[in-house]
Amino acid sequence: MATQKTEWIDHTYDVVVVGAGGSGLRATLGAAQSGLKTACVTKVFPTRSHTVAAQGGIAASLGNMGADDWRWHMYDTVKGSDWLGDQDSIEYLCREAPKAVYELEHWGMPFSRTEEGKIYQRPFGGMMQNMGQGPEAQRTCAAADRTGHAMLHTLYGQALRNEAEFFIEYFALDLIMEDGVCRGMTAWKLDDGTLHRFRAQTVILATGGYGRVFFSATSAHTCTGDGNAMVLRAGLPVQDMEFIQFHPTGIYGAGCLITEGSRGEGGYLTNSEGERFMERYAPSAKDLASRDVVSRAMTIEIREGRGVGPNKDHIFLHLDHLDPAVLAERLPGISETAKIFANVDVNKEPIPVLPTCHYNMGGIQTNYHGEVLTLKDGNPDSVVPGLMAVGEAACVSVHGANRLGSNSLIDLVVFGRAAGLRVKETCTPNMQQKPLAADAGEESITRMNKFRNADGTKKTADIRLNLQKAMQEHCAVFRTEESLAEGVQKVTAIAEHIKDVSVTDRTLVWNTDLMETLELDNLIAQARVTIASADNRKESRGAHAHEDYPDRLDAEWMKHTLAWYDGETNTVKIDYRPVHDYTMTDGIEYIQPKKRVY
Ligand SMILES: Cc1cc2nc3c(=O)[nH]c(=O)nc-3n(C[C@H](O)[C@H](O)[C@H](O)COP(=O)(O)OP(=O)(O)OC[C@H]3O[C@@H](n4cnc5c(N)ncnc54)[C@H](O)[C@@H]3O)c2cc1C
Repeated sequence: MATQKTEWIDHTYDVVVVGAGGSGLRATLGAAQSGLKTACVTKVFPTRSHTVAAQGGIAASLGNMGADDWRWHMYDTVKGSDWLGDQDSIEYLCREAPKAVYELEHWGMPFSRTEEGKIYQRPFGGMMQNMGQGPEAQRTCAAADRTGHAMLHTLYGQALRNEAEFFIEYFALDLIMEDGVCRGMTAWKLDDGTLHRFRAQTVILATGGYGRVFFSATSAHTCTGDGNAMVLRAGLPVQDMEFIQFHPTGIYGAGCLITEGSRGEGGYLTNSEGERFMERYAPSAKDLASRDVVSRAMTIEIREGRGVGPNKDHIFLHLDHLDPAVLAERLPGISETAKIFANVDVNKEPIPVLPTCHYNMGGIQTNYHGEVLTLKDGNPDSVVPGLMAVGEAACVSVHGANRLGSNSLIDLVVFGRAAGLRVKETCTPNMQQKPLAADAGEESITRMNKFRNADGTKKTADIRLNLQKAMQEHCAVFRTEESLAEGVQKVTAIAEHIKDVSVTDRTLVWNTDLMETLELDNLIAQARVTIASADNRKESRGAHAHEDYPDRLDAEWMKHTLAWYDGETNTVKIDYRPVHDYTMTDGIEYIQPKKRVY
């Protein structure tokens, strides 16, 4: 057995960013540009973060290909969110979006181009002109179907250029909190087993989503929502976790994504009768209706016996009618993915697809500056000093109950940028920081050693698979009272199994067994709050389709869910925060709720 190393290696920075995806890199870059000594800590190499897999594009009302206006983008986003999004944050997102995209362009991001050399923009689901009146808006800026890849490489280069310091393959364990103030975080260096304490004026969590809580997910295996779990362990709430986006077109069996951009370029869905069924469900937007609407329509078609394949359990996506030159130029990546994962030549045959977990609308509650909020003394908008969150880990909330395609990449850079601007105001370069308490971080060590020495009877991989299957069965596209109640019981029972886990590798050097167990523990916390929040919300809104409560009930439920998790007692506590019923700027009108039809 390796010797137990409990000495800390201490670091001091003005700002520490955890995560090097699009949001983390943009925040790192902004903080470094503000003259702050900035560290970025990441468990994977920056350009391997899940952002690298983003295909379709990034939304901004540049108006390069037909009229557009940021107010139209705002309207679509509010409607897409099913009125759960906070309109001050949505206004900030849509107003700042063009600036954030031009910034990427000027930093060298290789966008696809129009004939005149402008940034190419494609149509995406739920994006319209004229405050939802139509026709469809071409708002999604793209670098072929490898937009995230292009963005991540651009941002990483710029962050290095601005002398941000990177701590790569460091696994963040916990926040260091003192009297409700965040003072830093702890991390485990994977390749040599050393333990690190980072002291900082501000910690920015940019740890991404937790898609791996489901059995079928488009997200990377690393998407385990570690930052959300760190926040829960610090006794802070997460928000709106019941809202999970299922992407209509994950490849059947493999889960890999076929971008919505494929439907933007003219692709369409058919059932076993060869019918373009979306015409029945969304007469105007058809295949480009919002994701929750398309995923539900596909699920109904399959349930009613009109699925394709020997088991009638999936749907076809057709691109075979499109010009091969367009496919080669605009969608080369997914043509390759379809070949590898479904053995389909997109020029000749349809792709077998199924709704697959794709995005977490919920996460760490923040305002539009990126500051983390909590419920304190009756005020649900109280800022937690020293702690910020951005990207998919955060819930600003601009996506509300359902995110529009291409609105995540823009969320990453707009709010990553906002966080960089905020720390310029709140932090002082090289400020003397008071010492951390001598025992700061001890809880991280205790938790880590508990798992490192665990010799129970259950394997990490088995517990994880049971968890993912329970979530897939009980908390997916359609939900019912009975199935959710059963799901809550199952997930609560599975959460107990972690106490009986077995970890066989006792070392600290590249111990993937231990790392996966820590990630599983993080997934469990999020599964618990997700299914408890879903069970608690007795209405249907956006991605939360509750069959026993099919209507949106604004009078009672137009509010955000806040959820806390106590791992010791395995219990969830729920409270609420009102949806902001105002905009950011005087003179911009609040968009009144109405029925959401496409
Ligand atoms: C296949 C796919 C395609 C998509 N396509 C689009 C699209 O076209 N347009 C769009 O708008 N959105 C798209 N999305 C959504 C979007 O890409 C993601 O929401 C977004 O990239 C998340 O970025 P992020 O910066 O929040 O986190 P990520 O890119 O997921 O990065 C998370 C970072 O946190 C770090 N991290 C996590 N845990 C720890 C820890 N414990 N310690 C240290 N570091 C840690 C990781 O190392 C990583 O650097 C797509 C998503 C998927 C899965």
